[in-house]
Amino acid sequence: MIIKKDLLPAFNYCIKRFHIKNPPKLQLSKSFKIWGVDCNGAYNGFSNIIKINRQLKKQKAIHVLFHEFIHCHQYNCGKMKLLNNLARFWKNKLFEYPKTILEILNSPWEKEASYKSDVLYNDFRKKQDK
Ligand SMILES: [Zn+2]
Repeated sequence: MIIKKDLLPAFNYCIKRFHIKNPPKLQLSKSFKIWGVDCNGAYNGFSNIIKINRQLKKQKAIHVLFHEFIHCHQYNCGKMKLLNNLARFWKNKLFEYPKTILEILNSPWEKEASYKSDVLYNDFRKKQDK
């Protein structure tokens, strides 16, 4: 179980690193499902809210937070633009909203978030250890 304070250093690290002008709201919640699949985190580009499962252990929650911050950054830097609930632009290319979990996981924005969050997490840990 985590509280917001546990995530604050990682949260501020992301704001600084990505120069995010309009910081997202952080919401801790019970575990939740998207399309029937358990999710530990989500970023909503319409409301600018990052949601994290508060039942996670701290280090896992930080990793999930980084993943969601990559999504936040994708919007902030204009790589990702939402058209509506059904379509979006990714690097100026039109994408229909994925229809299955597999399509989501294979989308270019999820792939980027997955590998970049690992990099971010390692950089952050190195800084903490100093
Ligand atoms: Zn993601």
